[in-house]
Amino acid sequence: MALIVHKYGGTSMGSTERIKNVAKRVAKWHDAGHQIVVVPSAMSGETNRLLGLAKELNAQPDPRELDMIASTGEQVSVGLLALALQAIGKQAVSYAGWQVAIKTDSAHTKARIASIDDAKVKADLDAGKVVIITGFQGVDEKGNITTLGRGGSDTSAVAVAAALQAKECLIYTDVDGVYTTDPRVVTEARRLNTVTFEEMLEMASLGSKVLQIRSVEFAGNYRMPTRVLSSLTDPLMPLEEEATSGTLISFEEDTNMEQATITGIAFNRDEAKITVLCVPDRPGIAYQILGPVADANIEVDMIIQNQSVEGKTDFTFTVPRNEYAKAMQVLEGSVKEHIGATSIVGDSKVSKVSVVGVGMRSHVGIASQMFRTLSEEGINIQMISTSEIKISVLIDEKYMELAVRALHKAFELESA
Ligand code: ADP
Ligand code: ASP
Ligand code: MG
Repeated sequence: MALIVHKYGGTSMGSTERIKNVAKRVAKWHDAGHQIVVVPSAMSGETNRLLGLAKELNAQPDPRELDMIASTGEQVSVGLLALALQAIGKQAVSYAGWQVAIKTDSAHTKARIASIDDAKVKADLDAGKVVIITGFQGVDEKGNITTLGRGGSDTSAVAVAAALQAKECLIYTDVDGVYTTDPRVVTEARRLNTVTFEEMLEMASLGSKVLQIRSVEFAGNYRMPTRVLSSLTDPLMPLEEEATSGTLISFEEDTNMEQATITGIAFNRDEAKITVLCVPDRPGIAYQILGPVADANIEVDMIIQNQSVEGKTDFTFTVPRNEYAKAMQVLEGSVKEHIGATSIVGDSKVSKVSVVGVGMRSHVGIASQMFRTLSEEGINIQMISTSEIKISVLIDEKYMELAVRALHKAFELESA
């Protein structure tokens, strides 16, 4: 007998039929003698619908109220799943985040989990119940409901698994694992049996939305075995088969000596680029430009400062597209005057494409192969950034899918 956490995403919870299937699957695991905690998301489309209603009423909504609204999607899901389980004879109880309690900081719409109280959940599990906890939400010190950022139910699930010292966290979704790239963009993408924690962290941070990045961080920090698998298979399929399906995030490095050079390709459509032109090349400039951007709570990603000519240089960086207008406003304000830049130009139609793989450490020539492939497709590279296990380029968004397909082919990632 083991304690196992199941997470079901929006599509998996998308209709009462699908919820019945989730209940059957959960009951199968419980019948096999396991203690099961389930962390579901809102039904598919529901969080978007709720946030859409909010936007209709107020173009600049108060984040606290947004959390109040968005968190209700998950509350409906947990109640429905509890009823579906009870209908097939299982004892089940649902909890909202604040009832557990899942405590977070107060950063509304992007809160971070601080602690999880396991007392109530453990008592229910010991009493033979299936425990169902809302994904995506928590409660801050003052009792305000918070949410963990889009896709945050993954993080709720892995954090709950870590707090309960579960044996494994199973992330059930609408694909049957982690692929070499998004299978909706490249149909030839191949499912990976395992992906190293580091690679998954890079892929998630570079835009692969199959797992929210913070869930991968939790998995790494707590060494929580985490598996991504399909919720769309027959819920009564043999448990042993299901338990080894999908993709396992592994913490063992270099187990495979014949490791491929590249494991996967990630992309992010939601980028914007800003260039501050003709700034004096002197100490403190980067701080003067990026300081106010950071103070406005805007995340900066890629950064380039060019070689200076006659003491003047251009400074370019990227921000999330939905923060572009705000970032431009910040820069147009005090920054421009303070540093004496001639102008600030931006482009909100850029995308980032990245190749990722721990195999890069032991292979040379990955960057040149990447750049050659893009040049053969006539795609201009606007910015480049690298780490030990990834290379990212910023390109015109028009060419993003073309770039992903071409690179997927060039690095021979297709299924055999
Ligand atoms: P859920 O609602 O279950 O959380 P998400 O939509 O958040 O599901 O995540 C699953 C989706 O992630 C898939 O449908 C797929 O389109 C997308 N995705 C992006 N990159 C990858 C990848 N490398 N492997 C698998 N799926 C990916
Ligand atoms: N329902 C939330 C969202 O749509 C959380 C999640 O699905 O993980 O972002
Ligand atoms: Mg998700």
